[in-house]
Amino acid sequence: MTGTAETEAHTRPQKFGAVEEDGVVRCDACPVLCRIRPGRAGACARYANRDGALVRTDPVVLMHRTLEEGGRFVEFAGGDWDGQMLDPARTFVTGVGAGTTYPDYKPAPFIVSAEHEGVDTVTVVTEGIFSYCGVKVKIDTDRHLGPETATIRVEGEAVGHVTTAEYGSQMLSIGGVRHLTGGSKKEGTVACDTLLRLCSGEPVAVTIEGGHEVVVQAGAAPIVDGRPEERMRVGCGSATIGIFAKQWVGHVDEVIVVDDHITGVLTEHQAGRCLHMRPAGIRVRGRKSTPGRYFQVAAPGLGWGGTDITDPLSIIQKIDPEVAWPGLRLLLVSTTGEDALYCVLDEALRPVPAPMPEAVRAVVDRIGENCEPSLCSVLFMAGAGGSLRAGVTENPVLLTRSVARGETRVTLGGAPAYIWPGGGITVMVDVTRMPKSSFGYVPTPAIVAPIEFTLPRALYLRLGGHGADIVSLAEVLRSLGAERRVDEWRPDNPWPFAPAGA
Ligand code: SF4
Repeated sequence: MTGTAETEAHTRPQKFGAVEEDGVVRCDACPVLCRIRPGRAGACARYANRDGALVRTDPVVLMHRTLEEGGRFVEFAGGDWDGQMLDPARTFVTGVGAGTTYPDYKPAPFIVSAEHEGVDTVTVVTEGIFSYCGVKVKIDTDRHLGPETATIRVEGEAVGHVTTAEYGSQMLSIGGVRHLTGGSKKEGTVACDTLLRLCSGEPVAVTIEGGHEVVVQAGAAPIVDGRPEERMRVGCGSATIGIFAKQWVGHVDEVIVVDDHITGVLTEHQAGRCLHMRPAGIRVRGRKSTPGRYFQVAAPGLGWGGTDITDPLSIIQKIDPEVAWPGLRLLLVSTTGEDALYCVLDEALRPVPAPMPEAVRAVVDRIGENCEPSLCSVLFMAGAGGSLRAGVTENPVLLTRSVARGETRVTLGGAPAYIWPGGGITVMVDVTRMPKSSFGYVPTPAIVAPIEFTLPRALYLRLGGHGADIVSLAEVLRSLGAERRVDEWRPDNPWPFAPAGA
């Protein structure tokens, strides 16, 4: 592996790497062990050979929080940083651009000490190489994107699957060690590239077997078969009945809220009964679960309420002539309020579409008003409980236990990580809370992501930490010189040095 053209101009030399003949440098920051010619970059473009020295091609990202008197955050334009000294008490060294150490027994690239609120702390900063990683994608829409367990493909390669739908959201699981390592080389490469783009906030078009094409982008609305989604449903059909029942009384005689999972029928539903509504005698298709709540009224699809229904009247199985009456006012509506039909029963008890009265329209509009915007959320999930821990401590299980006890705070690019219970250090983080360009890859294939462990210095030493490699934050700032990027601390991320629970 001889590498590609060098693209960036950063020159921070690395502690590792070996000089070979003809000015070639061997990078040993990952198992690929690139031989990099002068002026070229390695296969991942993260390291380059600059005048015979191995350099990291991206700056280390520092995050700085700016406080006004009274502790309120104030705006800080990171891109316009004027070069003034950073206050160590307000600076956090992230793993973004920090570099990796391979094999992992070497101490992490930065083991930074600082005093925060009278406590000596240490932050161990590195870029982890994650072979065990993936993303969980939450797509706020009730459109049926594809059957549960269906394979998700990118460029024809299997990269994940549809998993259990959540309330108002479709869920995808993409990546994971099986796609990265267990299939063909192309499958691993495409899966890795898909993860990298999703984690970097880029749009990715995925195709779901037996379903649809979806463009997924963290923090943006999903695009399903070329159509951007706008609304996340207000609730299931039954919940919609429960929320709006009172507002319909007196304006309609029956409401059917069409939903792929639980279709609601107002007069039969407990909400209608409590409001003493007269039974309307309109029976919908599907399997009755409890009064006014019906399952499987249609097949899943891109139509009304996540069903394949485009003609809402097709949902009506029968109208009981003993109960219904001519002139009965019927509203059919979807769970987002995007689709609605108002009808009046004629003399033969047939529903006849009619202009929707203002009062009914107002409630339909209110359903829409109560829908949140349809959004894709991408959560990076990875196992940090492997050899990466050796860069933190010589006794890794102590780190695992300390993380589990909440004594050691884990962040990814400063963003808070959810730590799964049980064994290992299984982390999950919202990629939109991380700095720009946080992620990289190596062609093993695996994803490279920043990770930081912050804990009291005394605890770090008790855990068997690399005490001899601790460097003060002031010294780190001095040594980085201009080879750094300063970003504004996100006020919605908890400050890693704050006492636990603060
Ligand atoms: S792919 Fe691995 S060995 Fe090659 S430059 Fe990147 S980190 Fe170094």
